[in-house]
Amino acid sequence: MADPAECTIKVMCRFRPLNSSEVVRGDKYVPKFQGEDNVVVGGKPYMFDRVFQSNTSQEQVYNACAQKIVKDVLEGYNGTIFAYGQTSSGKTHTMEGNLHDPDGMGIIPRIVQDIFNYIYSMDENLEFHIKGCTERFVCSPDEVMDTIDEGKSNRHVAVTNMNEHSSRSHSIFLINVKQENTQTEQKLSGKLFLVDLAGSEKVSKTGAEGALLDEAKNINKSLSSLGNVISALAEGSTYVPYRDSKMTRILQDSLGGNCRTTIVICCSPSSYNESETKTTLMFGQRAK
Ligand code: ADP
Ligand code: MG
Repeated sequence: MADPAECTIKVMCRFRPLNSSEVVRGDKYVPKFQGEDNVVVGGKPYMFDRVFQSNTSQEQVYNACAQKIVKDVLEGYNGTIFAYGQTSSGKTHTMEGNLHDPDGMGIIPRIVQDIFNYIYSMDENLEFHIKGCTERFVCSPDEVMDTIDEGKSNRHVAVTNMNEHSSRSHSIFLINVKQENTQTEQKLSGKLFLVDLAGSEKVSKTGAEGALLDEAKNINKSLSSLGNVISALAEGSTYVPYRDSKMTRILQDSLGGNCRTTIVICCSPSSYNESETKTTLMFGQRAK
């Protein structure tokens, strides 16, 4: 059994490589890595549980960020994994990656595979009822990936000038694992929220106007509520402001207590984005 007293909030930090337009523009590669848990940006060191350099593989990120949480969820704990960062910093690459490629797969498809491997290797007295968020009955990892693809196409996408392929909306994927031993009637239930947050950039940078501007302000408000909840949990404070945003209300019973929470702070390494990167690193530090 996992130890409920063990530290429940882990903060990881991942830097993506410079992309081709940043290279063409002549941007500098800003972060300086010191060991496995420290990165220096603008002369200031930032400590995390782990720091991933730009060449870190999807598998390495999964092993460090998610493998343990999946094991705990299968033992009946609740958990949440978030990706936080400005648009184009690698959140979706980290959470989803390429759903149909074994090397390119991000955290969600690897979790799906791990859970199905566990199901396939199990004792025949256990019965499984697996439902997707869309209330679809799924029997294989491929069916889950197809459900995710469908969910993505239904997602509300507002094109912003940060990156025309990125959306400024939160994407929440919930895996609810219920296990029942038909002989002993012992039941176990664990929920795992997988959250690809909306880009954290300043509203002014998104170029939004009118209704989009209101939406952008709401998104930034929900991100700051999330930051307040996580820092209250990290400080062990008795009051945690879960009710301040819809998202923290949804996630309430999978954040805090003996829940498992991992935040992956995603950063651009480019000098062009240095000030957003510092803001992102500070968000991550508040959770420690
Ligand atoms: P976000 O979801 O934060 O807006 P994306 O995950 O869509 O950002 O990443 C933006 C682009 O950078 C994508 O084309 C993605 O494939 C690429 N990218 C992000 N992180 C990495 C990485 N660690 N290695 C290689 N390419 C990456
Ligand atoms: Mg994205």
